[in-house]
Amino acid sequence: MDISVVIPLYNEEESLPELTSWIERVMKSNGFTYEIIFIDDGSTDGSFYQIRKLSEINPNIRAIRFSRNYGKSPALHTGFQEARGDVVITMDADLQDSPDEIPELYRMIKEEGYDLVSGWKKKRYDPLSKTLPTKLFNATARRVSGIKNLHDFNCGLKAYRSQVVKNIEVYGDMHRYIPYLAKNAGYGHIGEKEVKHQARKYGHTKFGLDRFVNGYLDLGTLWFQTKFGVKPMHIFGLLGSFMFLIGFVAVLTVIILKLVSIGNPNFHFYLTKSVYFYLSLASMIMGLQFFLTGFMGELIIRNSSERNSYKIAERIGD
Ligand code: UDP
Ligand code: MG
Repeated sequence: MDISVVIPLYNEEESLPELTSWIERVMKSNGFTYEIIFIDDGSTDGSFYQIRKLSEINPNIRAIRFSRNYGKSPALHTGFQEARGDVVITMDADLQDSPDEIPELYRMIKEEGYDLVSGWKKKRYDPLSKTLPTKLFNATARRVSGIKNLHDFNCGLKAYRSQVVKNIEVYGDMHRYIPYLAKNAGYGHIGEKEVKHQARKYGHTKFGLDRFVNGYLDLGTLWFQTKFGVKPMHIFGLLGSFMFLIGFVAVLTVIILKLVSIGNPNFHFYLTKSVYFYLSLASMIMGLQFFLTGFMGELIIRNSSERNSYKIAERIGD
């Protein structure tokens, strides 16, 4: 099989028929053998009903329905596991990405030998509130990852050599860093292709302010889990560093005070009467504990068999 098109979707019922027939058209006119894998990320609208209807006409359609909304990364991860094509292409379901880009993306992987080719929405049709933070995000991602030639890390339209998707693990909200994950896994030949971008035709974006609002809701535990569940070091490491720094400064203060008091008959310094002594002890111990907690958390997460298991409610195709 030439191509697997992996499409994560959450409440996109209006777009699906149009998207599917567009992909079919492109595949047919280029003579590709293909499959479309829809990952319904817990939609509450008629998305899965649409997919079922479409699959009755087109046998190349496969689908998985999650029992609830897990997020785009889990959806992609599951799609990657299922993909059987030589080249795997991911695409958003909202018609913002154009299936007309598929043949060239396929060619770049097959003939130019890229491991991954990322789309670049050079001209975007999104509100400024989104394009501006995105620019900042990409600049940071380029710096941190060392992948200097990518303008648009989080473009939904990407093509991969099959091997690549089988060897990376997209978890949490990591879909924004897939090129980085690929590079870390040894697939560093990463290219970019300018792609057409369109304004969302139906429905609305699934990523917005509500993501921040959610943080305030629910119980403390839940908040903690979503925020730091897969990256405990981000909180414990920070706290640890902070406490350790306080401890370190306090120790320095104690030493300096002691040194000053030596040979100075007018200045008596009693170590155990100094607030800095207790501060240094408490802070350094707490700092170390936070750090250890962070490391432990990271270890547990990495080895948890649950970290990428999602409840599948329904399946179309084999
Ligand atoms: N999506 C998903 N699960 C989610 C959120 C989004 O599968 O929890 C899908 C969504 O249906 C779409 C793609 O991810 O196919 C990109 O989402 P969206 O278009 O809302 O993002 P934007 O284009 O605004 O960045
Ligand atoms: Mg979109």
